[in-house]
Amino acid sequence: MIVTIDGPAGAGKSTAARELARQIGFSYLDTGAMYRAVTWLVLERDLDPADETAVAETARAMEIEFDSDRVWVNGQDVTRAIRTAAVNANISTVSDHPQVRAELVRRQRIIAATGNYVCEGRDQGSVAFPDAGCKIYLTASPEARARRRCLELAEKKEPSDYASILAQQKERDRRDESRPVGRLLKAPGAVELVTDDLSLAEVVARLKHIVSRELGLSFV
Ligand code: C5P
Repeated sequence: MIVTIDGPAGAGKSTAARELARQIGFSYLDTGAMYRAVTWLVLERDLDPADETAVAETARAMEIEFDSDRVWVNGQDVTRAIRTAAVNANISTVSDHPQVRAELVRRQRIIAATGNYVCEGRDQGSVAFPDAGCKIYLTASPEARARRRCLELAEKKEPSDYASILAQQKERDRRDESRPVGRLLKAPGAVELVTDDLSLAEVVARLKHIVSRELGLSFV
């Protein structure tokens, strides 16, 4: 069984999807980490992120492993390295390439065929798993998402300027929503959940309710 969770950056998808998966006993697939891993490897090898052929070859040859909440690429733990500003600055260019998307979607389908999965990203319900038993679109207003991001950064004692975070996020949304293949959209049949005024626990409780209704399962 597959549950897809798509939505814009900062809607709280990753934390909520991971916790939902834990509570319902499904595995969790962070597809953003796959795009991040390719971007990291491209930068590490000094390749041009705009060169689709080189980037797609890198994606096809890359070994990626998920080990609970850690990510390994070609045997190296890249859990932190894939979340740097350099990766963030280049990830849209890498994610725009149709050949890269085709390769990562192919891998996502292989992984999800091995069990019950919560697959989280931008195109999981629309492209990767259009026939998933439960599709969710998790979103929040741009302002609520930017406020959350500021709080997260402040907690990590990192610079957190609300205006620049909001501007960067709008640019990322624009790129995610306008790519020709795999653009961010609410997939046909997806249930929308707006998280603006909800705590993490409330979001997870509502997700569980939606999943149990859509899949016809009951969770204790
Ligand atoms: O989910 P996360 O914020 O880590 O994703 C980082 C970026 O990876 C997104 O902004 C998007 O450009 C790309 N991505 C994608 N398709 C997915 C998941 C992520 O294009 N399924």
